[in-house]
Amino acid sequence: MRFNLIQKNRIGIRVGKITTIRGVVNTPVFMPVGTVGAVKSIAPWELRQLGTEIILGNTYHLYLRPGEKLIKEFGGLSKFNRWEGPILTDSGGFQVFSLGAGKKTKAGESLVKISEAGVEFKSHLDGKKHYFTPESVVDIQLALRSDIIMPLDVCPPSKAAKNEVKKAVDLSIDWLRRSKRHLESRVVNNESGEKSKSHNLQFTIYNSPALFAIVQGGVYSDLREYCASEMVKLDLPGYAIGGLAVGESQSEMLEIVELCDKLLPKDKPRYLMGVGTPDDILKATKFGVDMFDCVLPTRLARHGVVFVEVRSEKKEDRGFEEINLLKSQFRDDKNPIDKDCQCPACKEGFSRAYFHHLIKEKEILGVRLLTLHNLWTYLELLRRIREFDK
Ligand SMILES: [Zn+2]
Repeated sequence: MRFNLIQKNRIGIRVGKITTIRGVVNTPVFMPVGTVGAVKSIAPWELRQLGTEIILGNTYHLYLRPGEKLIKEFGGLSKFNRWEGPILTDSGGFQVFSLGAGKKTKAGESLVKISEAGVEFKSHLDGKKHYFTPESVVDIQLALRSDIIMPLDVCPPSKAAKNEVKKAVDLSIDWLRRSKRHLESRVVNNESGEKSKSHNLQFTIYNSPALFAIVQGGVYSDLREYCASEMVKLDLPGYAIGGLAVGESQSEMLEIVELCDKLLPKDKPRYLMGVGTPDDILKATKFGVDMFDCVLPTRLARHGVVFVEVRSEKKEDRGFEEINLLKSQFRDDKNPIDKDCQCPACKEGFSRAYFHHLIKEKEILGVRLLTLHNLWTYLELLRRIREFDK
């Protein structure tokens, strides 16, 4: 993976390009989330039509079902799901903690047990015990053949006490070192194997996915500084900001993002994990974030909620509003979702009343079209940010 920071545009936003063997990703970029290997209800060609350049897969879900071994047999996730473009996979750490943290079995046993070696968790599907280590999580992502992989980290809840967050930071730093070491050992082995067949060095270099760091530290600036400084020493190809969008306010989130802008290397891509609304994204790009992912556009669409741009003469009035088309006021609304939107759903002229009806009837077409609209809104926002007076 290669990252070229092209320049800052007139409004001070970083514009760049990530080159992977499966394609080029223009940054800042939004990555639609394909939790179990599909961006819910949307086909790969539709993603491309919307302008998607990279999608995200969830290691936790894919490991549980159908299992990375099966996906490897197909040549990796991008062959299995026929997206065939760049893919980033998360480490599963966030799901382990968000689906299990604080929850207890009937016997009072915690669903998640962290030790220095790794994390034991119970599947949210059937309650069976599983174990992730930094090494096993790298191996799963190698089997998925992701282009960008994330290390196992510890994600404390947003209201965690400072000493708990400090422990999470220390463990995440240690696990990142182990992830890097393990990936390097695996790629060297892989290189020697591939070389004997192809003698093609270029191929073997590209064959290694890019391991990003995940800076933790909650809303504590000294912990963020400590975590970032230790992780930057490892000289990784990219840096993510984790542990945000977990219940803190937008201003708390942006304060940490602004701090990380100063702490992280300028020549590496920065990825703000799990954020956020179009407004969050717009603001975070001003603090040097290059990559985003979020389930909001797809999840909200399934509940009849769409993002609509507010275009106003007055700058302070501009932005995005969330409209719930299930509300009775839309029952006979003949307007499209957004008359100026160029997404397939708006361009075809479907009315808000039709969507109100489809979502109420749980008709799958309604979900698909609203998902297309919301994804388009995000992708178009990022496209405009990139092209703004580049
Ligand atoms: Zn639209």
